[in-house]
Amino acid sequence: MEKANAWTTYEGKDLVKLTDLNEDYKEFLSNGKTERECVRQSVALAKKAGYKDLNEMIASKTPLKTGDKVYRVWMEKTIVLFQIGKEPLEAGLNILGAHIDSPRLDLKQNPLYEDTEMALLDTHYYGGVKKYQWVTLPMALHGVVVKKDGTKIELSIGEKEDEPVVGITDLLIHLSGKQMEKKASVVIEGEDLNVLIGSRPLKGEEKDAVKKQMLDLLKEEYNIEEEDFLSAEIEVVPAGKARDFGLDRSMVMSYGQDDRVCAYTSLVAMLNVEAPQRTSCCVLVDKEEIGSVGATGMHSKFFENTVAEILALSGDYNDLVLRRTLANSYMLSSDVSAAFDPNYPAVMEKKNSAYFGKGLVLNKYTGARGKSGSNDANPEFIAKLRKIFDEEGVAFQTAELGRVDIGGGGTIAYIPASYGMNVIDCGVAVLNMHAPWEITSKSDIYEVEKGYEAFLTHCK
Ligand SMILES: [Zn+2]
Repeated sequence: MEKANAWTTYEGKDLVKLTDLNEDYKEFLSNGKTERECVRQSVALAKKAGYKDLNEMIASKTPLKTGDKVYRVWMEKTIVLFQIGKEPLEAGLNILGAHIDSPRLDLKQNPLYEDTEMALLDTHYYGGVKKYQWVTLPMALHGVVVKKDGTKIELSIGEKEDEPVVGITDLLIHLSGKQMEKKASVVIEGEDLNVLIGSRPLKGEEKDAVKKQMLDLLKEEYNIEEEDFLSAEIEVVPAGKARDFGLDRSMVMSYGQDDRVCAYTSLVAMLNVEAPQRTSCCVLVDKEEIGSVGATGMHSKFFENTVAEILALSGDYNDLVLRRTLANSYMLSSDVSAAFDPNYPAVMEKKNSAYFGKGLVLNKYTGARGKSGSNDANPEFIAKLRKIFDEEGVAFQTAELGRVDIGGGGTIAYIPASYGMNVIDCGVAVLNMHAPWEITSKSDIYEVEKGYEAFLTHCK
């Protein structure tokens, strides 16, 4: 059951491909810190690979045929791509599904205030975070502000070298006696995650002079007025680019690798596949970190509706065909797994843990307290995948998320599984998961991309 470290198996040409993939991946991460930014980049890459906007084909009732490549974006935060295969759609799709939302701090709707001549922004954290990790870091503001007339202002402040950063302060160690005695879950409390953005008062103002100066600046530089925060979606994220990690450059450190590491590799695999037997599909969704809810999460009917549109344009839509298409599909729920951390061996069970360098991770189940809430994949499906990965030379390992009863987690896997299709969690192992800076192994990223391509091409 011991697996070789994939690094020891590479020849020169593997290393060239591995490096190229990881360079492009880092670029994607550095330019994709929100769902919208990831969707925008995905559309650009898809268009370059010959994909067309499905909405235009729906509008013009253009029929779909074998070999056609289409994408559809929903509310700028979710994207799904299809390449029509040689087999009828009713035979099922091969689907890669990942999420492009990541833990962060969202601005509240009424965020801006002044306290003791400092301007601050109030936040509400998004997803599961250890709040104490998010203080004393350079942070950037990304997002969109929608004016009453519908015009949108795109924001990205704090990424370029000459742009200012913002951030959350922490108490100096000298006065932290009481704070240091607190439980880690309350050392920094949610309501105290306030982002410091300014300290310079407007001349001649008596009350809230720093806030007024800040409002002047927002108006001048970005055309934003205070009331515009009511219809804004601004995410406070770690500032800075993805970069190589480790003296041997064998790893990547970046914000947002859960789950953009699987989203990016799924997208690359999707765009690399040509003329598949079964129709290929790649769906990158929003809102996984808060339960896959909302119009852009996996629970949304967006995905099912889009498969219905694909069937309609292929001249084969009715409710029964739609249900059969979904039930006959195979899906890899491309999501991250916890990497074994030698600093914290106690939370892992060594035989069933994911390790850096051992390739793609299959998680038969996730969940907590007796697998509760997990999609427990079928061995028949796992057997198919084992065969494909072995035949295509893809390094893979199997794991579960920590020791029994230590904790747990979930993914989108159980949602498409409710159509009756075979789904399994399959992705990259991550260190520091949900921390501002997460770490992955470059060889795992390379193996996962290969594995996703092999799945789209050979799973039947
Ligand atoms: Zn996550």
